[in-house]
Amino acid sequence: MTKPNNPPLEALLAAVSGCTACRDLPHGPRPILRVHGQARLLIIGQAPGLRVHETKIPWNDRSGARLRHWLGLAAEVFYGPQVAIIPMGLCYPGSGPRGDLPPRRQCAPLWFAPLRAQLPAIELTILVGLHAARYHLACHTPLTTLVRGTKDPRYVVLPHPSGRNNAWFARHPWFDTDCVPAVRQRIARILG
Ligand code: SF4
Repeated sequence: MTKPNNPPLEALLAAVSGCTACRDLPHGPRPILRVHGQARLLIIGQAPGLRVHETKIPWNDRSGARLRHWLGLAAEVFYGPQVAIIPMGLCYPGSGPRGDLPPRRQCAPLWFAPLRAQLPAIELTILVGLHAARYHLACHTPLTTLVRGTKDPRYVVLPHPSGRNNAWFARHPWFDTDCVPAVRQRIARILG
């Protein structure tokens, strides 16, 4: 992680990295996030998967490659100082019979607000998946409707890029033809 450039951020990241609020996590607490004080794009996903947990690199898997493709971001930009990455659950929640478990509910209420306060330059927040959309938009609107557009221009909602959603992508071809180019264009304008 890039070294924090001010003491409050450094202290906060140290507190996050020492968090043990979920002592029963099957692989133990290991918060994985990227926060740079000058970031202009914020990505809020679900929770780290096993590979991300093991490597400590957010979105370091097939879903991440697909997300970077959608956003039109090379890895060096995605992991650079202009992009902050804060999942709904900062630690790998483990897996169940239907794949990875949902993010731990206590995590976002505990850490999101203080982390977001360290990001004064964010121009656009990408909410990836239903957990992030429901929490941050405080609504129960179906995900497909939110992906078509939100009422709040500060947010873009994307489906989770997991291969488990391939059937959704096949049923909604407008996502690739309309939404992806639009979000790429917005991000290119913001990040230059
Ligand atoms: S998931 Fe969040 S609240 Fe739970 S231990 Fe990890 S950082 Fe703490």
